[in-house]
Amino acid sequence: MANFSKFFNEHLSTLSCRDFHEGVSCQRHILSSCIYCPLSIMKLFSPIYLFAIIRKYRSLTKEDLKEILLNYKSCIMGCSVTGICCNCILCVFRVLFRKHFLYTLIFIPVWFSAHFIFLCSKTVIEMASTTAYQYFVESLLRRNNVLSKTISGSKSIQTAIFMLCSALILHGKRAFDMKGFWLIKPSPATISEESEDFRRIGCNMHPKLTCGHYLWEGVRNNFLMGLAVDCLRALKRVSNQPLSTKTWTKAMNIRMYWGPLFSLYIGLYRLTHCLLNRVDVAPDKLNHALAACCAGLSHFFYPEMTLFHFAVVQAIAMLWRMFQMCGAGTENKISRALLSFPYTYVLYPLIQAHCVHIHIMRPQLCGTFHITTDNSFTNNYSTTIMNKVQETIKRAKGLQ
Ligand SMILES: [Zn+2]
Ligand SMILES: [Zn+2]
Repeated sequence: MANFSKFFNEHLSTLSCRDFHEGVSCQRHILSSCIYCPLSIMKLFSPIYLFAIIRKYRSLTKEDLKEILLNYKSCIMGCSVTGICCNCILCVFRVLFRKHFLYTLIFIPVWFSAHFIFLCSKTVIEMASTTAYQYFVESLLRRNNVLSKTISGSKSIQTAIFMLCSALILHGKRAFDMKGFWLIKPSPATISEESEDFRRIGCNMHPKLTCGHYLWEGVRNNFLMGLAVDCLRALKRVSNQPLSTKTWTKAMNIRMYWGPLFSLYIGLYRLTHCLLNRVDVAPDKLNHALAACCAGLSHFFYPEMTLFHFAVVQAIAMLWRMFQMCGAGTENKISRALLSFPYTYVLYPLIQAHCVHIHIMRPQLCGTFHITTDNSFTNNYSTTIMNKVQETIKRAKGLQ
């Protein structure tokens, strides 16, 4: 680190605004950020909110739609202010200090502007922080150490971790009614074991359906949901390319990935849960945890790393919330203060700043989604800075 700091002072500290936004004055650059940042953020988030509407298409009420649209508005406004502010501070720092320091190049501007996310609604703050933590986990797994290499190189270890995360998330959602997005909603135990329905079906979750119907209903609905995601992804792919008949023909060949993944996940979950409940050797709670764990096997057949990183973050968040719930009744003032401290307000800006810093300095640790998000927030400015910095590093290393 000390070496890199020295290297930075020698070769990167003198990069000026002229290097980063060539041929454009700072005022013009900021003005174009004010126009294009909101547009690129809208492009990034529209499919996510569209999916939120599709997901609830059967039970969508006016209130739900209003809530989704309000969240969308809050998200666009908060993220736009964050992106524009970040681009402005970058110029202000360059003009003010006339020289870069390792952390004033990108870390501090992003850390400062990330605080504007807290102006958004609670759901948006949760989404932004989860995404940042997810990219952080991804960068950790791409590092060059034994643990990261072992996990990222073995599908079996990843599947075992994913199974554990899946069990934790679904257990947290079912037993403690915890919020947060996940592939499926947990199946509630709705029938008492003394009732007539239970004796007829032999399973305690679906009063009007047989186990087979219940399984089929889940697989079908989730397949359609996954298919919607596949279509949105295909549309996104097309929107990133120039319009021609060729790209449209390509878009018609939708690569089905999320459809089978969603249906396999719920299929394994419901099948195991119904089977275990029918065999009736263990209590329903344990059967549910086992079924949720088995559902995680889907990672072995459809290894989606974005989902894997998301599952790790969600599982840690669930564990923390369970820990908070268990310790809520404590008499100790220090423990109570530690448990109720709003860590997101401190952690999120730091992690977000670290992630963008890594994007600039070590882009090999970032995935495609990470780079796309940073670019959408800053109207492709983060990649422009990254290219300039990497080019300078390469040139300087060539000279050494
Ligand atoms: Zn500038
Ligand atoms: Zn059943």
